[in-house]
Amino acid sequence: MTDTIYVVGHKSPDTDSVTSAITYANLKNALGMKEAVAAVAGDLNNETKFLLDFFKVPYPVKLTDATDKKVILVDHNEMAQAVDKLNMENIVEVVDHHKIGGIATGKPIFFLNEPVGATGGIIANLYEQNKIVISKEMAGLMMAAILSDTVLFKSPTCTPRDKAAVDKLSRIAGVDPMKFGMDLLKAKSDISAKSAKDILLGDFKKFDFSGTKAGVGQIEVMDLADLMQKREAILAEMNKMMEAEKLNMIVLMLTDVMKEASDLLFVGDAAAAAGFEKAFDGKLANNSIYREKVLSRKKQVIPPLEGAFKK
Ligand code: MG
Ligand code: MG
Ligand code: MG
Repeated sequence: MTDTIYVVGHKSPDTDSVTSAITYANLKNALGMKEAVAAVAGDLNNETKFLLDFFKVPYPVKLTDATDKKVILVDHNEMAQAVDKLNMENIVEVVDHHKIGGIATGKPIFFLNEPVGATGGIIANLYEQNKIVISKEMAGLMMAAILSDTVLFKSPTCTPRDKAAVDKLSRIAGVDPMKFGMDLLKAKSDISAKSAKDILLGDFKKFDFSGTKAGVGQIEVMDLADLMQKREAILAEMNKMMEAEKLNMIVLMLTDVMKEASDLLFVGDAAAAAGFEKAFDGKLANNSIYREKVLSRKKQVIPPLEGAFKK
């Protein structure tokens, strides 16, 4: 029997990374790679659960230790974000839409990375290229991934291709995309039952900015006021985590999707604080810098931080 190949997204899985694992494993199965299995590298968030329940799609298997496991990476390509104990030589393929961050392999692999709003749209294209029929369920998942990652097309990461893909996929899925997108947002931004730690870790990624070790998280809500009561507790969690994980800084984007702005919460050492202020051309006040029109970690937060810390 051949080895299982786990199709898996990043840790702190978001909807795109989970649905990309499911839909890409489904495509690989249809193309004859029967050993491909969808997996997740962490707990599902409320938005993803709502989505999978809505389309009655089973939750993927959990994969938290990749020792001796073959994997296809979707929705990420940086080892710091990948499932633990992954050996780079066991990466079979990569399908992603992020900056390229340090993977090296000993042999050629299929590596597809496109600057579009979500991995879901790239996978939808691969179904078409390979002439594989997209089911209602798979269409719904890929559509939702694009709506979620682009914050209903508002993020600067959104491209015309993303909108065209949602148009097509929503017809197959049989749902009104904007209405469904609002339901997804509501499920995602319901933080009433979440602890400060849940909020910090719900969508958290690690980066290395020229030697400055950083964690950058994001929480998207429909009204920032919902987060105000938990602000101090969140900052305490950020400090605790920075120490425990030996990081120089942690940024948490408190993103108001309605106002299209982010309060960038910061904790870190003095050098990191200077870099953070340089990156966002402002002064830290009460542990944060507020920025209008900032919605995307990938496009509006990581690049200025990388620039500010470049040696
Ligand atoms: Mg993602
Ligand atoms: Mg994504
Ligand atoms: Mg995101």
